[in-house]
Amino acid sequence: MADLVLVGAGPVGSLLALTLAQRGLTVDVYERRPDMRRSEGSAGRSINLAVSTRGLHALHQVGLDEDVLREAVPMLGRMTHARDGTLALFPYGRNASEFINSMSRGGLNKLLMSRAEVSGRVRIHFQQRLDEYDFAAHTALFHDEAAGKDHTVLAPVIIGTDGSGSALREAMQEQRGAQVRQEFLSSGYKELTLPALPGGGFALHREALHIWPRGQFMLIALPNRDGSFTCTLFLAFDGSPSFAELQTEDAVEAFFKQFFPDALPLIPGLAAQFLAAPLGRMVTVRALPWAAGSALLLGDAAHAIVPFFGQGMNAGFEDVTLLAASLTGGWPRDFARFAAARTPDADAIADLAIENFLEMRYQVADPEFLRLRELEHQLQDRMPGRYLTRYQLVTFTRVPYRLALRAGQIQQEILGGLLRSEYGFERAEQLVEERLTPLLA
Ligand SMILES: Cc1cc2nc3c(=O)[nH]c(=O)nc-3n(C[C@H](O)[C@H](O)[C@H](O)COP(=O)(O)OP(=O)(O)OC[C@H]3O[C@@H](n4cnc5c(N)ncnc54)[C@H](O)[C@@H]3O)c2cc1C
Repeated sequence: MADLVLVGAGPVGSLLALTLAQRGLTVDVYERRPDMRRSEGSAGRSINLAVSTRGLHALHQVGLDEDVLREAVPMLGRMTHARDGTLALFPYGRNASEFINSMSRGGLNKLLMSRAEVSGRVRIHFQQRLDEYDFAAHTALFHDEAAGKDHTVLAPVIIGTDGSGSALREAMQEQRGAQVRQEFLSSGYKELTLPALPGGGFALHREALHIWPRGQFMLIALPNRDGSFTCTLFLAFDGSPSFAELQTEDAVEAFFKQFFPDALPLIPGLAAQFLAAPLGRMVTVRALPWAAGSALLLGDAAHAIVPFFGQGMNAGFEDVTLLAASLTGGWPRDFARFAAARTPDADAIADLAIENFLEMRYQVADPEFLRLRELEHQLQDRMPGRYLTRYQLVTFTRVPYRLALRAGQIQQEILGGLLRSEYGFERAEQLVEERLTPLLA
C-alpha cells in the first residue's frame, strides 16, 4: 500500500504527487479520465493558461520551472482592443523581467504526470472515478470506467485534488459536516482558435494578453507557441446580449461584426467553430474546513475561483509548496494546520478574481479607472521598489493573497485622495510608508 492516495491527476494532483515523491513518499493517484498522453481529446478546462510567480516557484521546487518556461509564450502586458480598432498596451510589471506566461494546459499536465511517474514512487491509475469515501473505514470506492466495475481501496491518508466538483469534498460534507458554498457566475465562456498566419506568424501582437472589453462581456486571447491564439468569449448565459441569443451562424457573425470587428476576419469559420464549442460554467467554491482527520482537499477541490486573475492553478500550485513545507509526519495535525492557515488566502484570491472580472470587461476602458492607473504609475515611479500594485503583488510576488487584497484596498484609498486632489504626491508617499509598508514588511 502506498503512503498516500490522491484523487485527480490534474495539474495540482500531478504536481503534488511529484512533490511528495521527491520527499520519499509513495503515492497512488486515481484519475477519472483516460491517460491524456495516449489518447487525443480534452485535457479539461481551457486550452491554455497563464502561469506566474507562485506557480513558477512551485515548479522550481521540483526542478521543472525551466522546462515549463521553454514551452511558454511570455505576455508582457494587456493589449486592449477598442471597438474602433484602437490598440493600447498596458505593461503588467515594472520592467521587462515581469511578465506572465501563456502555457498549454495539456502540455503542462502531461509533463507533470510523466515526471511524477519517472520518480518511481508514483503510480497513476486512469479511468478510476472516486464515487465514495468512507471516513470511518478509511476506504475509497472507485468505479473502473474501462471495466465498468466498482472496487474498494484502503486509503488511510487521502488528498482530493479532484477539481471543482470534488467527490471527496462531497463525502466530507456528508460525513464530516464540512460547509461548502458554491456561487456560479451568470456568465459562461466559449473558447475559439484564432489560427497562425500562413507560414506560422502571429496574427496579433505576440507577447500580450489581448482583451476586447465591452462592459457586460469581453473577449480575450492568449498566444500559443505555434502562432495561434486561444480566444475566450465571456458572456451572460441569458438576456441580451447572451449565449442564448447566439444560436445560429448568422447571429454569431453579426455579434462579432458588431462588437469585435477586428477579430472576426482573423478567425476563419468562426460561426461554425463557435456553435460547436462547449459552453463552460464558472464557479467559486469555498469549503470549510478543507481537512478532516487524515483527509485533505487541495487546489480547485478546496477553492475553485473564477479565472479573471489567472490565479486558479497558480494558487493550487502554491498550496502544494505550502503543504510540503508544513509536513512533519503527523497527517491529521499537518493537514488541519495547513488548511487553517491557507483558507483566508484562498478566500482573498476568490474575491480578487471576481473583482477582476469587472475590471477587465469594464474598467480597462473607463476614463476614471485609466486616470487612477496613471496616478498609480506616477506614484510608483516616485517610489522605485517601494510600491507594488495589487496586480503585481498577486502575480509577481508570493505575498499572501489576503495581504495583497488588503494592500489593494489601502491603495485605492490613497489613490482616491490623489484623484480628488485632497493631497499631492508627497502626502501620498507618506501614506504609503505609514499604511502599506508595514503591512507588506
Ligand atoms: C477558462 C479558464 C481559464 C483559466 N485560466 C487560468 C489561468 O490563466 N491561470 C491559472 O492559474 N488558472 C486558470 N484557470 C484555473 C485552473 O484551470 C484551475 O485552477 C486548475 O485547473 C485547478 O487544477 P486542479 O488540479 O485543482 O483541478 P482540475 O484541473 O479540475 O483537475 C482535477 C482532476 O481530477 C479529475 N477528477 C475529477 N473528479 C474525479 C473523481 N471523482 N475521481 C477521480 N478523478 C477525478 C479530473 O478528471 C481532473 O483530471 C482557468 C480556468 C478556466 C475555466
